[in-house]
Amino acid sequence: MLTVKNEPKKGMMENVMEQFNKAANHIELHPNIRKILSITNNEIVVNFPVKMDDGSVEVFRGYRVQHNNALGPYKGGLRYHPTVDIDAARALAMWMTWKTSLAGLPYGGGKGGIQIDPKKYSTSELERITRRFTYALADNIGPEHDIPAPDVNTNSQTMAWIADTYMSTCPPAERSANQHVVTGKPTESGGLEGRDRATGFGVYLTIKFWANKNNIDLKGKKYIVQGFGNVGYWVSYFLEKEGAILVAVQDAFSSIENQEGINVDSLFKHIQQTGSVSQFENTIEIEKDNFFKTECDICIPAALGNQITEENAGDIKAKLIAEGANGPTTTEAEKILLENNVTIIPDILCNSGGVIGSYFEWLQNRNGELWQLDEVMLKLEKKIKESFEKVYDYSKKENIDFRTAAYCIAIKRIEKAYIQRGIFP
Ligand code: GLU
Repeated sequence: MLTVKNEPKKGMMENVMEQFNKAANHIELHPNIRKILSITNNEIVVNFPVKMDDGSVEVFRGYRVQHNNALGPYKGGLRYHPTVDIDAARALAMWMTWKTSLAGLPYGGGKGGIQIDPKKYSTSELERITRRFTYALADNIGPEHDIPAPDVNTNSQTMAWIADTYMSTCPPAERSANQHVVTGKPTESGGLEGRDRATGFGVYLTIKFWANKNNIDLKGKKYIVQGFGNVGYWVSYFLEKEGAILVAVQDAFSSIENQEGINVDSLFKHIQQTGSVSQFENTIEIEKDNFFKTECDICIPAALGNQITEENAGDIKAKLIAEGANGPTTTEAEKILLENNVTIIPDILCNSGGVIGSYFEWLQNRNGELWQLDEVMLKLEKKIKESFEKVYDYSKKENIDFRTAAYCIAIKRIEKAYIQRGIFP
């Protein structure tokens, strides 16, 4: 295991630090606590060999960054993507700290992953990569210490492999007691009913709450979605049920548009069959760079970070941006959007349904319970509503944007914990 400390900040990390410092200035955060929160607690980098199907051996690099655990165990996803590096893992781990704090959960923040394009590997290779990664991380994760979950290109199957590998390395009598080492598992393997839709449902709810506050009827409102994975699909599913119209979708391969509306379930089936949104019936292919220029009322980035930049922010027609992804908007883009009176529901609020669902799964496993879907959805709605109201009221009271308000609330909760407990020794 190699532990990396104090590498220069760049990219996504700069973005999250600017957001953090803006809020920290607003609440006049204690300088000692600012110092602590500006840096990650632990950074774990593992290089591990895996046998490929053809008998060759490849060495992979995996990351787990643990930003802060003042409020509870580190919590956050593992992503498999070529953009995963130490900078991305740090930034994403920080976002998790603010997200769990804002949601009022007893968790800190962590994030990790492997720098791979999973499409290049077979299922059995991905299984061996995941199991070997889990084995390499085993001393650094745990159900009461650091609890991974799905993220970009990982899913319930990935979590089932992680749980099985982790549990298999525990003494027999302790195996079942460690099921909550990961969340987002398949329901038969200790997963939570509804965890699959939790993030998208939360994104939809925050849009609905915003619409209610502004006396806007979502029926007939047009929306565009970048990324049609788990988050993009489920938010579209719930918005369509509400009568809103999906008019454009972008994935890694293509961007499609139909101002008359795109049927969510047909598109989902098309992606399952072909692997992309490309050439979906009754849609026109649009230029990648024109996607954010599409006529619409609501824009939902639900893919990767740094997608809305100073280059395209001024072109956005939507009056609302709902951040299904983590860190999709750069700070420069945000300035332009706020000047143009575009509201942004920030990632740490907007996509918090996922980690709230994870918390429910963790509780379910810990207490040996099985929760029903309707119960899960009601509890999710209650939690997200509470967070939304807090952010909304604080932003009005302080006359600040939603993101800064969300950060202020999240950071204050952590600040209080540090002030109560002091610094050891
Ligand atoms: N990867 C999701 C996120 O970014 C979920 C994390 C979790 O459930 O721990 O919020």
